[in-house]
Amino acid sequence: MIYLDTAATTKPKQAVIDAINECLIETWGNPSSLHTIGREAKKVVNENRKIVADFIGAKPSEIIFTSGACEANSLAICGYLNCHDDRLVTTSIEHKSIMEIAKEPKYNTLVIPVDNKGVVDLQWLENALQAFPFEKPLTSIQYANNEIGTIQNMKRISEIVHYYGGVLHTDATQMIPNWKIDVDGIDMMSFSGQKIGAPKGIGVLYVRDGIELEPIIYGSQEQSRRGGTENVPYIAGLGEAIKHLQYPTGELRDYFVQQVLAQIPNCYLAGANSERRLKNNASICFNGISGELLLLMLNERGIYASAGSACNHEPSHVLKAIGLSDDDIASTVRFTFGNQTKDDVDFVVDNLVEIVGILRKFNKTK
Ligand code: PMP
Repeated sequence: MIYLDTAATTKPKQAVIDAINECLIETWGNPSSLHTIGREAKKVVNENRKIVADFIGAKPSEIIFTSGACEANSLAICGYLNCHDDRLVTTSIEHKSIMEIAKEPKYNTLVIPVDNKGVVDLQWLENALQAFPFEKPLTSIQYANNEIGTIQNMKRISEIVHYYGGVLHTDATQMIPNWKIDVDGIDMMSFSGQKIGAPKGIGVLYVRDGIELEPIIYGSQEQSRRGGTENVPYIAGLGEAIKHLQYPTGELRDYFVQQVLAQIPNCYLAGANSERRLKNNASICFNGISGELLLLMLNERGIYASAGSACNHEPSHVLKAIGLSDDDIASTVRFTFGNQTKDDVDFVVDNLVEIVGILRKFNKTK
């Protein structure tokens, strides 16, 4: 089995499963209860809140546990705009959880375009912020893209946003597993446990101290900013996953791309080149074939990749935004690497050569 879909989810390590199980067996109390059983659960939450905070250079009081990055994005954007009466500035390649919020007329959203590599047009950002001198818009720009892996210049974005008095949120869900980053210059940041070896259903929103948010789920937990009894076992799993996180070097991905482009004619890498790209991501357009058929045939051979975002089954708005034609969008497949070996990559490339050949021959005979 060769799993090339780590951008969709990752497999928890045994240590993470053990931490979760221990919690379910030993510290199963409600962290809000005042008795010893509750206090033990609260201790687990606090210890892991500190691990998460240290991991991104924040204070424990700035960490809100959520059910994942979709909820963290919603809380950051709706929670902020519902109590600040400002507009939203975002980009054309955000995750669906943000693209859908941007459609809400009440947020009066301005969508910034990207170039053909997926890089946000910073002049546009500056013009957009300059155009509203009496407002303090919330700017939400993803750190790195989940489909094409393009990394944005967050330092420069932060300088521009803050020069115009704005507030910056970033969806760092895909950046977190790839690079060591911190929240310096960032006001709010979302990420998801499942991309770094924790289970699905746990996420984080960092909110810089002093930023006011209206909850989207009401209740007394998480300083009344996110109601609901804390998911203590998964919070423990997230803390444990952070301890074991290893960043990819990008070497095998580079080798893969080089081999595919050398051995298969008429294909290209969609998105940015190596330096501006997540180290685990290769999104490749195989001209003239159906990406979905390719995925199914790879699946038959024990190779698991993806047609783009796992959460989006419509034609990719990201590939459209970087200028791909509908045909090329349908021919693009995303490979996101984990702990493969060179032999695994050679095996995948050999299979791609064969399957792309079969599909192209089949298309010619139709
Ligand atoms: N943002 C990005 C960039 C993502 O890749 C994902 C997961 N595909 C999410 C948000 C949503 O994460 P979750 O499913 O944990 O809510």
